[in-house]
Amino acid sequence: MKDQLIDLKINEKAIKLFNKLGITRVIDLVLHFPYRYIDETRITLISEMAIGEECLIEGEIISSEVLYRPRKMLLVKVKDSSGLITCRFLHFYASQITQLSSGKSFRFFGEPKLGYNGIEMVHPKYHVANPLKELASTLTPVYPTVAGLTQHAIKKAIELAFKSNILEETVPSSMLQPLHLLGFSEAVKILHYPPPNSSIDSLLDKTHIAWKRIIFDELLAQQISARINYHQRETRQAPVLKGNKQQLQQFIQQLTFKLTSAQERVLAEIISDLHRPYPMHRLLQGDVGSGKTIIATIACLHTIYGGYQAALMAPTEILAEQHFIKIERWLKPLGIRTQWLTGSMKKKDKDGAHQNIKHHIVDLIIGTHALIQNEVEFAKLGLAVIDEQHRFGVEQRLALRVQASQHGQFEPHMLMMTATPIPRTLSMSYFADLDVSTINELPQGRQPIITKLIDSKRRDEVIQRIREVCLAGHQAYWVCPLIEESETLELETARDTFNYLQQYSPDLKVGLVHGKMDRLEKQAIMDAFYKNDIHILVATTVIEVGVDVPNATMIVIDHAERMGLAQLHQLRGRVGRGSQLSICILLYQTPLSDLAKQRLKIIYESNDGFELARQDLLIRGPGELLGAKQSGVPGFRYASLDQHEDLLSTVQNVADDMIQEFHLMALNPVTRWHGQLPDYLKA
Ligand code: ADP
Ligand code: MG
Repeated sequence: MKDQLIDLKINEKAIKLFNKLGITRVIDLVLHFPYRYIDETRITLISEMAIGEECLIEGEIISSEVLYRPRKMLLVKVKDSSGLITCRFLHFYASQITQLSSGKSFRFFGEPKLGYNGIEMVHPKYHVANPLKELASTLTPVYPTVAGLTQHAIKKAIELAFKSNILEETVPSSMLQPLHLLGFSEAVKILHYPPPNSSIDSLLDKTHIAWKRIIFDELLAQQISARINYHQRETRQAPVLKGNKQQLQQFIQQLTFKLTSAQERVLAEIISDLHRPYPMHRLLQGDVGSGKTIIATIACLHTIYGGYQAALMAPTEILAEQHFIKIERWLKPLGIRTQWLTGSMKKKDKDGAHQNIKHHIVDLIIGTHALIQNEVEFAKLGLAVIDEQHRFGVEQRLALRVQASQHGQFEPHMLMMTATPIPRTLSMSYFADLDVSTINELPQGRQPIITKLIDSKRRDEVIQRIREVCLAGHQAYWVCPLIEESETLELETARDTFNYLQQYSPDLKVGLVHGKMDRLEKQAIMDAFYKNDIHILVATTVIEVGVDVPNATMIVIDHAERMGLAQLHQLRGRVGRGSQLSICILLYQTPLSDLAKQRLKIIYESNDGFELARQDLLIRGPGELLGAKQSGVPGFRYASLDQHEDLLSTVQNVADDMIQEFHLMALNPVTRWHGQLPDYLKA
């Protein structure tokens, strides 16, 4: 098929410019829509012009003069049967003075404004009013462009593209009709050449029915690739894990707490997946503190009772370590053999770990990225759990899967956990290839965390407050500012804070933990904090995720204005983990940028991770929220998840139907919007 710009005989220089606009294929030209329109389809009487609304008028020039004060300009007075208007040109050539001389008739297009001399148009477009020259038959498109590429060149190229017959319909008409959608080529043509009297407003704000079809199509392309991936998974093999129901129940019953009903529900969803012969890819989301770790642990236990190994990967060593300590405490009494694995282990220990994993001497492996290194060979991996999955890229998730399956015919089941809840719109679109389980309640007896915004000038009062909390037997975190430009500076600041707090509170024990420490040092500090031997833990943002010390009831976040919403919420979630009232103090430094003000207001007003994620999506857009590069999902060109949320479930149904009934045809929308098929669809 001829689908490259070169096939349209567009010259190379222009092709380079088109490329700058993201246009590389013929179809991209067609999908390059105007950002505004000019209405040259009718002539407006001067007396009927509306201020601020662009229009085309036709009249006779009755005077034309060049003024020099206040600056050089050409003033042309134009009259039609209904009234008079002044056209003002601030930049003009000598030839234009002759051209626009009195007695001649012209058409002028511009925006009427109320000026010094009554109603005027500044720099209108104009051409000779030739009674034989017809008015435009459609609205005139104005395209986004780059320097060097004229509107004319774009229009010509788009016309050529239309002639090359690439606008086949991709959705079967039986499906389009009940949805009241226009045909694809009809919709595209309307957007490039809207008929006279089209509502320009609805074209611009994308509510026009033609837009509805385009956006539908774009969402459809994305849904189809996600859903194909989803269904394709059902054809792959994973171990059927039968577990041991009775023993699992026993374990759950002897826990010191009772699972919430939300935890029970998601657990049932997971266990039911583990019984299937194809791999589970499930996202477990739940707000910070909702109790995901125990769910993961039970899933691992089920796997191990089924005769397979389970692995849990966490993004930081601190978190992995904490999981290790906690899970080992839960599982050791059952005779489950656990293995710790991180990059910082000594070679000898690491080799030992690799052997244990390879020969199934251990059942549960907990660690960091070290789990996905080449040397790691699992004997029989049945389940891989990825905690705080948003910290890992798609490739790393894939790596764990590939890693585990390369030595056998089975792929492991995967459970991805996140405390950054994904708004429904996002999970339905970007995560349509996953199943989602949501823990939507916190364990009983938790008190909402109190959040305070305090100017950092009042730092000493805050320290006083920390002292009171610690003297009453509780513990506190002091999170030092994130300094993106310099890790050294970040560390220095943390040390200064540590020294200051220590000086100020000789009767309390202060600890410092940061990313540059080696593992043993870190572990020693964290252990001391768990045991309440350290009262105030000064930390860089290394503690952002997962750390769980229920006795800590106060957290101070220094320079909170530098942090994003998700990060603030994660940090705040370090407290409020027990039944005690907890407080989070956000210290900020003035002056605040508008964005920082907005964020602080939102985090102050809401404790609900889902609401925050929704707000975050509004502020940052999906790309940033997911880390577009990291998540490997292409952004949308025209669809906006906010505005088009209501379309999503319909689109998902159509995608499923198309995949089922029209397998090959279903790929067309995908290639149309994304060029080639994504890698996972090729495989
Ligand atoms: P997160 O979902 O943020 O990972 P955790 O799994 O760390 O949360 O759980 C937070 C705390 O709540 C932990 O101390 C955990 O042991 C405890 N917990 C988990 N489930 C329950 C429950 N049903 N009732 C009481 N406490 C629970
Ligand atoms: Mg957690």
